[in-house]
This record gives sequence, C-alpha cells and structure tokens, in this order.
Amino acid sequence: MSNISKDLALFNELVDALISEEHKNPVAERIEASKLYNAIDLSLQDSAMLDDNFKALLREVLISTPKTATSLFFNQLFGGRQSKAVLGDLLAVMLNNSMYTYKVAGPQVGIEQEIIKQSCDLIGYGPKSNGTFPTGGSMSNYMALVMARDAKDPDCRLNGMTKPLIIYTSKESHYSNAKNASFAGIGRNNIRYITADAKGRMIPEQLEAQIQEDIKNGGIPTYVNATAGTTVLGAFDPINEIADITERYDMWLHVDGAYCGSVIFSEQYKHLVKGVERSNSFSYNAHKMLGTPLTCSIILVNDKKHLHDSFSNDADYLYQTDGDDFNLGKTSFQCGRRNDALKFWTLWKSIGTQGLKTIVDQQFELANVALDYIKSNPDYTLYSFDDSISVCFNYKDIDPTVLCTALYEHQVTVVGFGSFKDDTFIRLVTINANNEKQDILNFFKVLEDFVERTPSLKRVEAVSV
Ligand SMILES: *Cc1c(COP(=O)(O)O)cnc(C)c1O
Repeated sequence: MSNISKDLALFNELVDALISEEHKNPVAERIEASKLYNAIDLSLQDSAMLDDNFKALLREVLISTPKTATSLFFNQLFGGRQSKAVLGDLLAVMLNNSMYTYKVAGPQVGIEQEIIKQSCDLIGYGPKSNGTFPTGGSMSNYMALVMARDAKDPDCRLNGMTKPLIIYTSKESHYSNAKNASFAGIGRNNIRYITADAKGRMIPEQLEAQIQEDIKNGGIPTYVNATAGTTVLGAFDPINEIADITERYDMWLHVDGAYCGSVIFSEQYKHLVKGVERSNSFSYNAHKMLGTPLTCSIILVNDKKHLHDSFSNDADYLYQTDGDDFNLGKTSFQCGRRNDALKFWTLWKSIGTQGLKTIVDQQFELANVALDYIKSNPDYTLYSFDDSISVCFNYKDIDPTVLCTALYEHQVTVVGFGSFKDDTFIRLVTINANNEKQDILNFFKVLEDFVERTPSLKRVEAVSV
C-alpha cells in the first residue's frame, strides 16, 4: 500500500473511533488548561514515532478535543456536521489547489464562481456583481471596509489616508469592525457606535443624526455596517431604512450576514434581510448556518469594479494565462488561497437549493421549540425575541456565567453566555440543523438535572447580582 492509502485507512479508522466516541460521550472529557502538557504528550522530538504509538496518540488527541458536531454543543455560531460538505472539504485537501489562477485551479474556479453567481441572484444583485471567498466573516468585513474607503477616497491607495473618513455600526455588531477600522487606517476613534433599539436593531434615526453631526464637524461619512444576525441576540438591522440614509449621503452600505445571512435561502425568513439588494456588499458564512466545515465565508459586491480597484495587483510571474474572469487572485486578499468553495458546492449540489432552505428553516424551528419551552416554564426568564436562532434565557436566577462554566467543567453541555444592555444570560444557539426537537428538550433536561444535583449553585444564587 502506498503511504497515502495507508494514512487514509488510518484516517477512516480514527474517524470511526471518533464517531462512536461522540455517541458515547457527546461532551469531551475536559483537560484543565494548566494540566494540558502533562496530560497528553504533545512534544515534538528529534526521533520519529513508531506507527502504533502514533496511532494511539492521535486517538487520544481526537477524543480529548472539544466535540463541536454533537447534540450537546451550543456554544458558538457553528455546530453539527453536514456530511456532503465534509466530503467536499476532504477532496479539496487531496487536490490541494490554490485558487488564484485558472492554470492551477481549473474547474474549481467555475465552482467558486457558480456559488457567487447564484448567491448574487438570490439577493437581487445585478449583472455587474461578483464576489470572493475570504478567510472568514471578519475578513469579509475588512474587505468591504477597504472597498468603501477606496471608493470614497481613491487617492488613498497610493498616498494613504488623507481625509477624515467616518464609519458607522451598531453597538451590537461584531468586534471585527473595531479591529478593521484600525487595520484600514481609519482608526478606532473614527467609528461611531449607533444605539440599538430594545430588540437589538440599529436605530436609523440615530444613525442619521450622528452622520449630520459628523458632517458639521468636518468628517466624511463613508461606510455603514448593518448586521444580519447580531452576535448575541441574532437581531437584524433594518436594511431598507439604513439604505435610504446611505444613498442620501453617498455612503457604502455593507451587510454583515456572517451569522444569519444564510436566511437568503429561505422563502420564510429572507424577509429579515429585505432591502439587501440595495447594499454595496453582503457577506455570509456558510460555516455558520449552512453547516459546512470552517471556514467558508463569501463576500458579494454589487459592482465588481470595486473588488478590482481595491484588491488587484499585476503580477507577471503569476497571471500568465486565461484572463481576469478566471484568475481569481485578481480579486482576493491573499495570494495563495485555500479552496473553500468545493465543500459548499458538494453540499449545495447534492441537496439543492431546497435542501439549503430546509437546513435554515430547521434552525428556526428548533429555536421555536426552545422558545416555547422557556415561555411555558416559570423557572426561566427569556431575553431574546422571535425570528432569531439565538435563544437567550436565565434559569432560576442562577448567575449565567457561573452556570455555563459549571456545565462545561462537568461535561454536561457546552453553551455560552452573552449580554445585551444591562442583562447577562445564557445563549443557546440552535444552529446545528442535525438536531431535532428532542435534542433541544434534552438540553433543558440535562441543565435542570445538573442544577438539581449541584447545591453549590444555590449559594452562588444568593450572592449573584
Ligand atoms: C461570526 C461573525 C463574524 C466573524 O466571522 P469569522 O468567520 O468568525 O471571522 C462577523 N460578524 C458576525 C455578525 C458574526 O456573527
């Protein structure tokens, strides 16, 4: 057997072990961070490791790594495992293309472009639209901001920032906005954080008032980041109202749909991004709602000219054949670029757009199961709203930060907490479309059983604020 065949056989064996372990123990046995290097031998050494030892070690590493695909993982904005997407990603690893040129990526270029074209059609972008696959949602937001900056101040590409550009986002938006403002040379002090309403949505009137004040002070309003699915509450900023403003003041409108932009696949929920066709750019993460392996992020632009203006650079050693439409390196941030498109394409191709819709709808269905359960049980307090797959609550007034940490340390379930305005609460994210109603009810059951048998949580309750 060739080395690769042997290693793939080992891979299959390890994956079987992992899957059976996931069924037996949906939450991995936790290794305390301070004991990690003593618990598993992670050291790299001069000498080679014997095959049998190597296999045993790999098994140990797999088994003690947090399990994100099981029915008890609710911690982050991803989870589960769409097997057809896993297949595509494994093939991408075997092919090991880089996506910058047609010469090196061949049909993979068409695969990426087909996803981009279909996505642009879904959101109602016109014939000049295009896009690319950045390394994640943070990078998508960054690329949008750079395009906005260059559109407002084209000299900037050559001379650096000379104008007082101001950008706007809601207080509830993703933290990448702050980092990106500094990377893009705009500066963190030139972000205006617009207040959100009681349901976590940016207030357009406040946005406009802030813009007018900045103009009065000599600032140049440049960019608004609207969020489709805020990180904590899963709220949707009102895109149409915001677009009225960005059009009036000639600003760039980006819609950050990293978390919930995939509602574009659902007849029932795409109304949540109504007006998205009026934006200049839109991004979504297939590795969040659509369940592809990390990372799979897509940014779309209404006019591809901006992608070229901001990201193309001539490189004779690289672009030797086939023309710009097939040499995707002309519109990407990186040079060498992983093939993140194939896994999404294998998923989409195998289940169809209808199948993607089912994946999205299932998450809202599961959120409704959780909402109904919470609303009908007086031991719970609800903090989130309809049309969101982030279900936020507290149980018996127990400090959510203490409860989440205890649930994790005792390997009960992995769930996180969040804050909105003055409240802190547990955030259950029903993003794993492999889950069923029973899995959500089971989450509440394991949580309640744990509280019941953990009297120390009561003491915490007495001192909690
Ligand atoms: C997750 C998320 C991001 C960041 O995406 P990454 O792929 O993790 O970089 C940006 N914005 C929102 C609203 C998100 O939920």
